[in-house]
This record gives sequence, structure tokens and C-alpha cells, in this order.
Amino acid sequence: MALEPPARGRARSVGNHTCDRCHRTDVTRIRVHWPDGRICGVCFTTATHTFGTCPDCLEPDRMLPGRNTQGKPNCRHCAGITTQLVCARCGREAERFRAGSCARCVITEDLTALLQPRDNISLHRLIRVLTDADRPESIYTYMRGAKARELLTAIGERRLTLRHDAFDALPRSTAAEHLRALLMHHGMLPQRGPEPVARFERWLAQKLAAIPDDSTRTAIERFATWHHLNRVRKRAEDPAVNLETVTHAAKQEITEAAKLLSWLADTHGADVSGLTQAHVDDYLSDGPSTRKHIRNYVRWLTHDRPSPRRRLEAPHREAKSVPMLTQTQRIDLVRNCLEWERVGVSLRVAGLILLLWAHPLNKIVMLRRDRLQRGPTGMTITLGAQPAAVPEAITDLFWRHAQRPSNQQTTNTATEWLFPGTRAGAHLHPGTLSTRLKVLGIDAQRARNATLRDLVHDVDARSLIDLLGYSPGIISQHAARTGVHMSDYISLKGAHERAPGND
Ligand SMILES: [Zn+2]
Ligand SMILES: [Zn+2]
Ligand SMILES: [Zn+2]
Repeated sequence: MALEPPARGRARSVGNHTCDRCHRTDVTRIRVHWPDGRICGVCFTTATHTFGTCPDCLEPDRMLPGRNTQGKPNCRHCAGITTQLVCARCGREAERFRAGSCARCVITEDLTALLQPRDNISLHRLIRVLTDADRPESIYTYMRGAKARELLTAIGERRLTLRHDAFDALPRSTAAEHLRALLMHHGMLPQRGPEPVARFERWLAQKLAAIPDDSTRTAIERFATWHHLNRVRKRAEDPAVNLETVTHAAKQEITEAAKLLSWLADTHGADVSGLTQAHVDDYLSDGPSTRKHIRNYVRWLTHDRPSPRRRLEAPHREAKSVPMLTQTQRIDLVRNCLEWERVGVSLRVAGLILLLWAHPLNKIVMLRRDRLQRGPTGMTITLGAQPAAVPEAITDLFWRHAQRPSNQQTTNTATEWLFPGTRAGAHLHPGTLSTRLKVLGIDAQRARNATLRDLVHDVDARSLIDLLGYSPGIISQHAARTGVHMSDYISLKGAHERAPGND
């Protein structure tokens, strides 16, 4: 009995029969004679796998093997087909596959004999999975292969367990890989793909397990599996795709979606079905900028609503029009200013003024030396109306600079400028300063924006220096390396402690 269309092209070429359905004239054997004519094996298989509502008697869920006068597939009753097309065992309309039983019943019987499921739940499930296949005949064909039989027998005798490592230990065969793929497809073995995909799957399993087991977990699981996992697997088929990037973005979106739902439950006592645009707007208007990653989730939730007005939207957060440094980058630049001894003190002080107080370059170059003052409570720098405290850890550097501004030894002597230019009486040009700051890795505009932002969030000069975690010992080491004798350093400190007021 033909299961699948018989190997096309082989037997066909020698036949000389004509099928009245497909009109091929080289058919080897006519399978049945039905009211509309002679039917070849291929057309018979197609006919017995066609199901739907019969156009003539309007009965739903019927096998539609026949052809009505308009050439439309109809049920065997309306078509007048007398071939037995009902399974003697389960009573379903199906091709009789063996001894009056349909393919599904035959496979169930054979698999039960091979797998010996008895009280083993996962083996019962395996049988169900295999018999529910769209084309049970293909499973039948598979089972008849010697290798597959061997595998199924090994499972039945409990010599092979349904685990990846057990399958890994088998000699490689198409039959084993086919069975493994089937098991994975039906969730009886975890998915395994390229390593980033496998890692992503492990991450996802842990992530889901950590989400409260209520509607939140189900909701996130749907998004994670239907949207992301499918997408990740699809992308994995393209070797040019950087899967790390893809899975990183997926993790971020899943994490943020879960946070949104937990916020919704905590703040509004609602679950995902109660999520409104007002909630989304409220959520995005507050909190960390990572909240913007809910965008795809929110859109995915309602993308199939027919009216665009009923779909949820999470607008892209306004991209900052000015480039920003992260706080870590800003701290690193401050560190450069303090530690890069090979760069002149003048430039490092200018960099610090920019990085700590966001003073613009065109104003930095116009600072006069008397803007730096030492007083009973420490050093101050007057940039605006009020003097600001210079963090103690950097007063040494500032003081050394105030004593000997660069260029002073050349032409521009006795200058009142904190940052003298090369021309007598002139201060440094802001463009020159901007260019020179690049030596310290400082992009003036970005650095200033970042500083302004941090100042808004109360990361002032002192707390930023505190973040650097310098101990007094380390500052001394820096002083020593720059050639300032410890005695000078101490005496400077001493002078500072003893003598308030100007030096
Ligand atoms: Zn045909
Ligand atoms: Zn009918
Ligand atoms: Zn049956």
C-alpha cells in the first residue's frame, strides 16, 4: 500500500495508465475507480487527506474525496463513493491503512507494542505526539526503518532514556536525529540550537521560573516564546546574524516586560488584560530609561486589534539631542585628569573644572587666578556668583597650577589668567583648549552635558571625587610621582591648615 506518493519518477515512467484527476498518462496502477473516473495513487492519497465542509450536503468536518459537478471536492456520500473510508477501530473517516484500521490506529498499536509504555507517562505522551502527527503515514514509514525500530525498541526496553545526553551517546544516524527533532518539536526534549540559542533558552527557563506563577508568568511566557524565542531561532538560521546581539535585545525586552506587569499589579492591581495607554504613558514618564524597552511588548500585545486607536503604543523616548557620557565614563575622565602625569597640570586642571562643574570652555579660559582661593574650610573656586568648594583630594593639583600657570615661563609672564595663552596678556583660546583636552580623552561638549546631567542628580564635585575612592596615601603617591617632594606637599597642606586666606 502506498503511504506517501511513491518515489516520483521511478515507477511512473514505465506506466501507461491515465488518471482522470491529474490527467497523467504514465501511471503504473490505477488505485480506485470512482464516479468521476480512474484515480491514481497520488490522487487517492490527496483525496483521502482532504477535509472540510461538503459543498453539497454542507456537513462540516467531512473527508472530501469526491468531485461534484463543478469539480469541487465533496463527501463520499454526495459523490457516491462506495470505497470503505471509515476506520473500523476508531470510526473516523480515513483511508483504511491496515486490516480496516486507519493509519493512526495502526501506529498506535505498533508503537504501544514497541514502546511498552505501561505506566510511563512520558512514553504515553510520546505515542500521542507521534500519532497526532499531521501525516501519521510518515511516522509509519519512519517506524519501518531498521534504525528507527532499533531506537524505539531500546526506548521500550528502557535502555534509551528521553534525554539529550542519551541521544548524544548514540551513534549518529538520521533516524536518531529525526526522533530527537520530533521530541524537541513537541517539547519532550529541550530545544538545542547554536550555543547562544541554547543559552537563551536556559536563561528564559530561569527567568520564567522567577516570575510569580499567576497570569504574569503566562503573559510573559507567551511574549517570550511566541515573539522572541521563535524569532531567535529563525535568526539562528542565518549564519551572518550576531546571535549575541539578538538574544541580548530579547532578554532586555522580556525583563522589562515582566517589570511592567509587576508594576501594573503593584500600582494598579491590574493584570495584562487591564493594561491601558494611560498606564503605559504613566510608566514611561517615570523611572529609569530602561523602561523604554517595553515598546515592542506593548505593541505586540495589541498589534492585532482592528482599530489602530485601540492599539497600545509606547513612543520611542525622545533621543537626547546631545551626545552623553555615562557617569562611569565621566569618572574615568576625572581619573585621567588626576593620574596622567605626562599631561601638563594646566590641561588637567582645565579638564577637571569642566568635568566637575560643567563650566563652559569659553568661560574656563577667562578664569583669573584669584578665582581660586584658600580659606579656613578649604579651597574654593568661584565660577559663578558663589564660590564652590574644591574637593580636598584635588586641591593639591589645583594649587600647584595656581602657583605656576603654564606659559607663564615663556612669554606670558605675570599673567592674571589661570590659563594664559602664548601671546603676552592673552588667555588661552577655547578652541585650543578643546583640542588639547582630547589628549585626556575629553570631548568637551559630551563631558559638559554629562556633568550638567549629573549635577542635576546631586552628583556634585565632592561626591564625584569621593566616588573615585582615593585614599590620602594614593594622593601622596601621585604627588611624589609628579616630582613634588613630600615635604612640599606636607608643607602645602600645613600652610593650608595654618594660614587661612590668600597665599
Ligand atoms: Zn491522479
Ligand atoms: Zn456531502
Ligand atoms: Zn482509526
